[in-house]
Amino acid sequence: MGVERRARESAAARYRPRRPSESVLYRCVQQHLETWLVKCRDGHDDEWSVPEHVGREFRRYLDCGILAHGFARARCGQCGHDFLIAFSCKGRGVCPSCNARRMVATAAHLTDHVLPALPVRQWVLAVPKRLRYFLQRDADLQGAALRLFLRAVESCLRAHSPGSGSAARLGAVAFIHRFGSSLNAHLHFHCVVIDGVFDATATGGITFRAATELDANAIADVQEAVRRRLLRAFARRGLLPGDDAHDMAHWEHSGGFSVDGSVRIAAADRAGRERLLRYCARPPFALDRLRELDPEHLLYASTKPGPGGTGPQILTPLQLLDRLAALVPPPRVHRHRYFGVLAPNAPLRAAVTALAPAAAPTPLPDPPAAEPAHRRAARYAWALLLARIYEVFPLVCARCGGEMRIIAFLTDPAAVRAILAHLGEPTAPPRIAPARGPPLWDLPDAGADHCHPHAQPAPEYEFDQRLAW
Ligand SMILES: [Zn+2]
Ligand SMILES: [Zn+2]
Repeated sequence: MGVERRARESAAARYRPRRPSESVLYRCVQQHLETWLVKCRDGHDDEWSVPEHVGREFRRYLDCGILAHGFARARCGQCGHDFLIAFSCKGRGVCPSCNARRMVATAAHLTDHVLPALPVRQWVLAVPKRLRYFLQRDADLQGAALRLFLRAVESCLRAHSPGSGSAARLGAVAFIHRFGSSLNAHLHFHCVVIDGVFDATATGGITFRAATELDANAIADVQEAVRRRLLRAFARRGLLPGDDAHDMAHWEHSGGFSVDGSVRIAAADRAGRERLLRYCARPPFALDRLRELDPEHLLYASTKPGPGGTGPQILTPLQLLDRLAALVPPPRVHRHRYFGVLAPNAPLRAAVTALAPAAAPTPLPDPPAAEPAHRRAARYAWALLLARIYEVFPLVCARCGGEMRIIAFLTDPAAVRAILAHLGEPTAPPRIAPARGPPLWDLPDAGADHCHPHAQPAPEYEFDQRLAW
């Protein structure tokens, strides 16, 4: 059997159209969102207790990947293979597909363009509940705690990197996780730190001093330093009475402070670095852990006891919406931050990131550069539409490996309906259930608006099959 044919057949075997509206989560939000919004409003007199951006995230999620809202058509230049890509919501919190896309894109960017091919270590900090209470609510305090943590890590690395000067700096990317593995509020920090320090040379270059093996004592020292300094900082800010801070510094079993530095990735292990970055950038909610037990109960499975994990959760649909709403970050909050030589204004940043093992440059499918001014508006509209499908380019043909090109965007409702009708796909978006009166857990009407899971697309089209989440 020819290699090409095998490749074609395995691509066909992987073929799985993305049908977001069939997931347990989608059906839950579809059936219960309006009821949940009313419940939140009524629970707090006239005050709208759900921040506007949270309601917006949920509504946009219900539109994400739904072909009836419009789509792009992509075609393979080599074999003519043709498929449709629905618009994405690009959401930050609720939408599993966009969360996963963001995680992959973040890790790929950091691996290709930011982190040099040097060893890295993951440093994780968790703090006692009493401190988490304040951290959860105060973004400035989070930043201060993170800087304090990384200063302690930097001292440790300097001490363990032979030849380093007193001004040597670390390079780190930090991720603030606001949740544990059971969707419970549990603020903690994951930092990917280059395992060594950088000195500036007299000629404007950099020298990297690799750290020697860090033993358990070295990491325990960091934990003690962070514990001492963080408690002092909280006491100074008036968040803890001095006596309590003193007591907490002497609680047994490290008093709820935990620093883990046990995961180290070798310089040559580029794939391992990317995996670690994905792990750090992962969304708090995993769709494949959600199951419907019956129409009124969902099970959110726990994988392993992660930071603050509390085992499997059984939730009503409205409780699940409460949990998901809490996961939506405030607008304009960055998911990761750079420190030390990687900080945005650091003088050594360019020299360090230049050592990143850039993958092949990713050509953007822009129209030709030299163009008359009157076409610029059209190009801008095209770019906006490209952004809406949230794709990574180049698109690769699942059938022959050739390069796919976007040949059209369809946003005109009549044209969208006509094509979907031709394909036997639903021509209208799934219906959003209206709010129900109390008792709020009345059973929703079942099945009235399900799309057709077995509808066969006409042979000349296929759907985006590379996004199997
Ligand atoms: Zn989305
Ligand atoms: Zn092809």
